[in-house]
Amino acid sequence: MDDEPLVLLNPGPACTSERVRRAAIRADLCHREPEFVQLMSAIRTGLARSLGVAASHEAVLVTGSGTAAMEMAVIGAVRDGRSLLVVRNGVYGDRLARIGRVHGIAVREIAEQWTRPIDPDRVRAALRRHPDIDAVACVHHETTTGLVNPIAAIGQVVAGTGACFLVDDISGTAIEDQDLATVHADLICGTANKGLHGLPGMSFVLLSQAGARRVREAPTRSLYLHAATYLEAQRAGDVPFTPAVQICFALDEAISEYEDEGGFSARTAEYRERAAIVRKGFDGLGLRILLVDEPDRANSVTTLALPDGMSYRELHDRLKARGFVIYAGQGQLRGRFFRVATMGHLPPRALERFLDALEDVLR
Ligand SMILES: *Cc1c(COP(=O)(O)O)cnc(C)c1O
Repeated sequence: MDDEPLVLLNPGPACTSERVRRAAIRADLCHREPEFVQLMSAIRTGLARSLGVAASHEAVLVTGSGTAAMEMAVIGAVRDGRSLLVVRNGVYGDRLARIGRVHGIAVREIAEQWTRPIDPDRVRAALRRHPDIDAVACVHHETTTGLVNPIAAIGQVVAGTGACFLVDDISGTAIEDQDLATVHADLICGTANKGLHGLPGMSFVLLSQAGARRVREAPTRSLYLHAATYLEAQRAGDVPFTPAVQICFALDEAISEYEDEGGFSARTAEYRERAAIVRKGFDGLGLRILLVDEPDRANSVTTLALPDGMSYRELHDRLKARGFVIYAGQGQLRGRFFRVATMGHLPPRALERFLDALEDVLR
């Protein structure tokens, strides 16, 4: 165990600070005791506050990876006899649609090329054509490619139509350039272990007032992932099922760390700077970035074409031997592209050292 820890450059779980990891190892605690009620309440208000939506949204915490929050939000967003519109341009958009279908929800889809942001006009047209649409679902930062969708513009289109707007912001909360208070989103999915730098195992849905109303009107499609049950319980200081107590300790600490370090503006600035460092390095090494248009690019993920004559496995293994974990291309990008996520609590000079290692491997 005295090896140098690996630097994770995959899009979650991201590297965490000593401070956050230590917080997880406290005395055992029963989730029905007042200490846990207090912890949960601190996390719920801390999430809404630190993500800038305290005036408009309320957090519901769920034990599980980000997909648990997605599933909770999707099945809570659509009333009986209505449909879900999914606008998708990557693997996670596909997942939103799959969740709907698994639960027997009628799903309409707008598919966009993976390298192009969603066009809000297409959403407007679909809402006009299909009055049965009860919710519009979209991914903010599509981690498949590192593309950022225009959620504020889409939210503007959905607002006032009677449909709810659901955003998978799991790889966007806390780190991408979007003030969530301006988005008009009713259900926002997030997780502890990407931009918030907590440990994996807890996720959450931020509900607007309309979102909170909607999850109570939607039918109960799952016992474990029924948002209305969690909302009611958590408002009363209770939890319906055993939560990952230790992961909650760490999440609470991660929120404090986020705020101590300057919160949203400071972290997005830091992530922008990281992106600039690695992308300059990639250019210098002659690596091709998938997304051409600068404004479409996320702060935290860069998708790159594999260098000629090198497989992903080879590149991955050689970098791992030097202490860095990169990530494969997904879906139609598999075998041709790889990803570098500059997410998490990174040690000093980690990115410079990574670029040196990459240069070494490419030689
Ligand atoms: C990571 C991620 C998820 C959740 O994936 P899990 O495997 O459940 O952690 C969902 N949506 C997006 C956009 C993500 O990046």
